[in-house]
Amino acid sequence: MTSSDISAAVPDGQFPDPAINEAHRSALRSIARVVEETVEPTPPAQALAQIKAQLDKGPALALTGAGVSTDSGIPDYRSPHGRLTQHRPMTYQEFLHDPAASQRYWARAFVGWRRMTGMKPNRTHFALVELEKAGFINGVVTQNVDGLHRDAGTKNVVHLHGDMQSVVCLDCGTSEDRRHFDERLSIANPHYLASIELRPQMINPDGDVSLADVDIARFRMIPCLNCGSLRLKPDVVYFGENVPPARKEATEQLLNDAASVLVAGSSLAVMSGYRIVLDALKQGKPVAVINGGPGRADQKVDTLWRTRVAPAFDELLDALDL
Ligand SMILES: [Zn+2]
Repeated sequence: MTSSDISAAVPDGQFPDPAINEAHRSALRSIARVVEETVEPTPPAQALAQIKAQLDKGPALALTGAGVSTDSGIPDYRSPHGRLTQHRPMTYQEFLHDPAASQRYWARAFVGWRRMTGMKPNRTHFALVELEKAGFINGVVTQNVDGLHRDAGTKNVVHLHGDMQSVVCLDCGTSEDRRHFDERLSIANPHYLASIELRPQMINPDGDVSLADVDIARFRMIPCLNCGSLRLKPDVVYFGENVPPARKEATEQLLNDAASVLVAGSSLAVMSGYRIVLDALKQGKPVAVINGGPGRADQKVDTLWRTRVAPAFDELLDALDL
């Protein structure tokens, strides 16, 4: 899908307020960013040797994306079979200003969330735990919202884009535990889940699933416990929204303390991740990328290992005698 296809799916002037509309459309452009292959990857044996040498010089900051979670059954957006080909995520502006889109999101998320909670860390998550224990990385900054690094046991993890564990009210800021929120949804929507036949290809990376319009219409949304607003959003950074300052600072701290950066499973198409790589390069720190497809920083990084992520980490642990 190209950027123009996605833009075409949303009517011009969707929001009456031009500023809101521009923010929304800017978010859509970011969602639709296509990263092309631009350089020849590092030969695999050389890539492995360079990454080993890089980690031997001091702990790296590990920056992870959707590619580390695909082996847990959570699809990514930008790979050839990624979900952007059939689905785009909500924008922050839609959560704020489009009640119909919000209704659609929550109906779908109600069904999809229990799929997300069933997901387990895979061997890449556990490899990163080993690397942290052995001092080869000083922590993980992840763009994923699935919480699987924490579940695997990584001590020092920054969820750059938040996670799916809580729901926040966009009017009063009250946060509610997702499990509690889900119990309230279940009470408001008895028999709803049993009435939906869920197939694996319906699930999306943000816990959203595809549902028929008729099923969306009969879903009953519930209000904020504090103020009664229906403008609720997972406490996840959506396109069109900024990373909270505290998480930026935690990331900067990890980067300052790291000797280098190791990117895994990310095309760095989103600015919040790409910026970390730019900052590292500005500080003169080496950057290595392990990813299955092209990325936005490919021309700038020192090592580019084009491979499946999980087997690459198996080889890396072997090379480091872990
Ligand atoms: Zn509220």
